Amino acid sequence: MLPASGDVAENSVTDVVSNASGALSVVFTDPDVLDCPICLEPLRAPVFQCDNGHIACNSCCSKVKRKCPSCCMPIGYNRCRAIEKVIHV
Ligand SMILES: [Zn+2]
Ligand SMILES: [Zn+2]
Repeated sequence: MLPASGDVAENSVTDVVSNASGALSVVFTDPDVLDCPICLEPLRAPVFQCDNGHIACNSCCSKVKRKCPSCCMPIGYNRCRAIEKVIHV
């Protein structure tokens, strides 16, 4: 477990990912972000995101007919490689 107080910078799970295909920076400090927000199952690649950055797992993309349930943008065409990189750790 992490210490309850103080700076956890040295031991944190923070990860910053820069993708050549777009200046994408993601900071993860909470392992809960690695669950699919739709079905709440742990994410596994491939992970998709809509144009607004909402994420969904592969099976949820089929379930919602490739339309983001949060903003109705198309989802399932753009992979979220930052998340995929993290969940492969
Ligand atoms: Zn899901
Ligand atoms: Zn969305």
